[in-house]
Amino acid sequence: YLEEAKAAPLILRPPGALKESDFLKMCIKCGQCVEACPYDTLMLAKPGDTKPMGTPFFIPREIPCYMCTDIPCVPVCPTGALDEKSVSKIEEGSKELDITKAKMGLAVVDTESCIAFWGIQCDACYRACPIMDSAITLEYKRNTRTGKHAYLIPIVSSLTCTGCGLCERACVTEKAAIRVLPLELAQGAIGAHYIKGWDKADEKRVEETKSDVTTRTKRSEKSAQDYLNADEELFK
Ligand code: SF4
Ligand code: SF4
Ligand code: SF4
Repeated sequence: YLEEAKAAPLILRPPGALKESDFLKMCIKCGQCVEACPYDTLMLAKPGDTKPMGTPFFIPREIPCYMCTDIPCVPVCPTGALDEKSVSKIEEGSKELDITKAKMGLAVVDTESCIAFWGIQCDACYRACPIMDSAITLEYKRNTRTGKHAYLIPIVSSLTCTGCGLCERACVTEKAAIRVLPLELAQGAIGAHYIKGWDKADEKRVEETKSDVTTRTKRSEKSAQDYLNADEELFK
């Protein structure tokens, strides 16, 4: 019973779902999102599913999210457990739903069982992806084993993958070699110690990162040149 009452780390929620712990507080298990889904993607967890009972989830290998442009499952949520804002964009001053902003999870490739990594041609996941060439790209690599063939391997971008699971559904291996995992499990976090010095947006990310530890000192606030040439303390 406990397993079915607490937050489930391995569950995939509908588009726009709040962070799992908040989602569980807000979802009243009314099933309106499930009713609204035209593809029967969403289900409510029942006893024995080992998922928080009565809450909506999906299993991409069975039925993925087809990324409806009008996202009917989200606006019907009466409590905001599915947050319309998180799957919307502002277009010419007005709010529009945008399913490409959904973050249901992240597709991860098992390079040992993906046959493309063996050198066998397969692009099933790439072709199934609604955001092909952004969420999944095919990377060309020389096959040094044969010396005359190429690998075309699927690479997923955590920036644009929505976690819809269409790739997982399409995968040709017995158990999918590409699988959608909840973001908290699949995604790393760089932290504030590394920064792309060539990217202004990344500087902003570091400024916004909350941390109790800071490496900023009086000296590091200056540019490296100031500090080497004009720091009187160095020449005392
Ligand atoms: S976006 Fe469409 S397919 Fe995906 S869960 Fe919502 S209603 Fe179902
Ligand atoms: S889950 Fe797969 S199909 Fe869906 S956006 Fe991500 S890479 Fe594309
Ligand atoms: S469909 Fe499966 S086996 Fe084929 S390239 Fe994609 S992940 Fe690999």
